[in-house]
Amino acid sequence: MRINCLACGHKVDLDDAYDDYEGPVKCFACRAILEIRTEQGSIKAVKQVNSIQHPSAEEVFERVLNPTNATAQGAGTAGPRRIG
Ligand SMILES: [Zn+2]
Repeated sequence: MRINCLACGHKVDLDDAYDDYEGPVKCFACRAILEIRTEQGSIKAVKQVNSIQHPSAEEVFERVLNPTNATAQGAGTAGPRRIG
């Protein structure tokens, strides 16, 4: 079963465990939270949840593994140089 992500349009693949399901699913393309309701393998409702959730332990762990703010710049110029 697939649902279209309301935020980015990505087709989110759901397995059989979601055939009768009501609750949030996460788009792994854009990480939007979609609240869905399914019944017997068909989708009854999809809506996007806009509330910001506090980061899960998984996301914090990911941030540790992939630090994006690590910009180390050294070896600059060593001041004025007189050429005479
Ligand atoms: Zn998405």
